[in-house]
Amino acid sequence: MAAAEQPHDNHDPATAGPSRPHGKVFLVGAGPGDPGLITLRGIECLGRADVVVYDYLVNSVIVEHAPTSAERICLGKHGRSRIWPQEEINRQLVELAQAGKQVVRLKGGDPAVFARGAEEIDALRHHGIAFEVVPGITAALAAGSYAGIPITHRKLASAVALVTGREEDDKESAAIDYGALASFPGTLVVYMGVTTAPTWTAALISAGRSPDTPTAIVRRCSLPDQRLIQCTLGEVAGRMSGENRIRPPAIVIVGDVTTLAPTLSWFDKRPLFGQTIMVTRPRAQAASLAGLLSEQGANVVLQPAIEITEPTDWHPVDDAIRQLHHYDWLVFSSTNGVQFFVERLLASGWDTRSLGGLKIAAVGPGTAQALSRYYLTADLQPDEFHAEGLTEELDQHASGQRFLIPRASRGREVLPDKLRRAGGAVDQIVVYRSQDVEVPAPETQSRLAAGEIDWVTVTSSAIARALAKMFGEDLRKARLASLSPITSATLRELGFEPSIEAASHTMQGLVDALLKSE
Ligand code: SAH
Repeated sequence: MAAAEQPHDNHDPATAGPSRPHGKVFLVGAGPGDPGLITLRGIECLGRADVVVYDYLVNSVIVEHAPTSAERICLGKHGRSRIWPQEEINRQLVELAQAGKQVVRLKGGDPAVFARGAEEIDALRHHGIAFEVVPGITAALAAGSYAGIPITHRKLASAVALVTGREEDDKESAAIDYGALASFPGTLVVYMGVTTAPTWTAALISAGRSPDTPTAIVRRCSLPDQRLIQCTLGEVAGRMSGENRIRPPAIVIVGDVTTLAPTLSWFDKRPLFGQTIMVTRPRAQAASLAGLLSEQGANVVLQPAIEITEPTDWHPVDDAIRQLHHYDWLVFSSTNGVQFFVERLLASGWDTRSLGGLKIAAVGPGTAQALSRYYLTADLQPDEFHAEGLTEELDQHASGQRFLIPRASRGREVLPDKLRRAGGAVDQIVVYRSQDVEVPAPETQSRLAAGEIDWVTVTSSAIARALAKMFGEDLRKARLASLSPITSATLRELGFEPSIEAASHTMQGLVDALLKSE
């Protein structure tokens, strides 16, 4: 074969020119803070990123859309870490793309609104690097939606101007024409105007805008601790100074539309808004309760009290899996029990057909739901969601029956004891380990100690004990919301009185109890 026909060998850098593929940079708007306010396209880009370069204001939950293998570069926060000069950011983006990476440059709000997006694009263009811009919800629009302020309105404002309150820092750009802004026939939305408030408000007023113009300051809009302050233009600077001053990030909306906030707002009218609630379930199971609470407006703090891990020894489980035909009943008392047992079964090369000869019991609706994820239906599920309820039901079936109970490394013995007494043969296998978390996140600890956490949810006896150990007397600084009478009894044994107890012992039941107590 002639050398020219050989399909390979064009990778020699000396002869083949720039054979390494260039990467691409996606400038993606992350929105104002609520992790739900990013576009689908933004999530798609993150999903295939090799590197994410993000501003400190971007919600870290959004960064989690990137693969775990992706490199994460945070561009620092005032006072905490180094702030990157713009040139260095540009250079970093160029170098990463030149190294063949798919780079997501994640920016708060929209990547082109007061975000130096054009400078980053210029640097990329200059080096011939492919790029795409994915818009985001800018703070002005989010503040409008989340504070009940329509920034345009048929009767009150036919135009809107986005203004920076920071321009004096940036000598090269044209000075703001305050005369034009003062007579602008519409709403003004001022970004980065907290520390500079005395300057820009005075400039607007002396150019003719009335100091009585209705104004709204919206801090951390779309986040659970959003604040809205309604005042006049003349009062803004006063609200931005002194002991109780508003701190960044905040946006200031100037105009008659701000008077509609009390009527049109919804975000801060949700029943649990303003309540900080600690969710203490194991990390993998926190989402359902956290989601229900956030939906009602609560500020959720995740602090797992127990950690769920694999058992130290799988042998007894594997033996039981091989002997499944010896049993009549498979009894699950937790979602973890279901998940760890069935996953082990599947990982060992079996499938759910090997459960075909068994009857299955589940302690409650959560456990039954966990079974349904594997297309399994519980033959028996008591009306009461705890071991006693299950035993009462099972008792009638127990005599002469063989039970297999996949369980945690620790827990109550009620179920096996009663089944044995009713004439059943019981084998238990440890399918997961439950351990106390001993040291809480330092920030959570200090917030609890400072009385900044309103509620701690206590969703099992094991969690109650772990919390008492982890926080000690500080646990009295918050009110305790207990899932069930058993959890409440454990709390009382430990010397803590729950303020509320769920009537129905499910996550929704706990949220309902919190809603009732408000
Ligand atoms: N690109 C961003 C703006 C960056 S400038 C966007 O499109 O929104 C930073 C300024 O944006 C802050 O000083 C503040 O005025 C505003 N801002 C950003 N996020 C905010 C939030 N969650 N609540 C209120 N203002 C916010």
